Amino acid sequence: MEENKKQLPGFIMCVCTGKCPGFAKMDIWDFINQVRVELPVEYGFIHPQLCEEDGDRFLADYLKAGRKVVIGACALNMQKKMFKDAFAEAGLDINKDLIALDIRDMTTDEAVAKVQAVLDEMEA
Ligand code: SF4
Repeated sequence: MEENKKQLPGFIMCVCTGKCPGFAKMDIWDFINQVRVELPVEYGFIHPQLCEEDGDRFLADYLKAGRKVVIGACALNMQKKMFKDAFAEAGLDINKDLIALDIRDMTTDEAVAKVQAVLDEMEA
């Protein structure tokens, strides 16, 4: 990476096993493809269930790399509760370092716009 290049955040969508009605209004593949191709993120991908034990292990490993992450998933207070061990294990403060978005019950365009808005805020 060039020295002066700004490090972009990674984006993880948690899709709640793929069966949660909360994501029924959007096309999850269109959503993640728009985020990863059109928005200023280093990459974007879908995880099936971040709050399961393996998801926790994945998140703890991922966070240790030190890249900022935006997570699009369920309710913010739930994310805080469920991801706190992974953040703690990576030496991060969940209240400061978690950039969480609730993207349930949204269309693809609405969810993309919500991610864009938080990325704009982070850049400001
Ligand atoms: S973190 Fe939230 S969206 Fe992801 S699987 Fe758990 S409850 Fe569902």
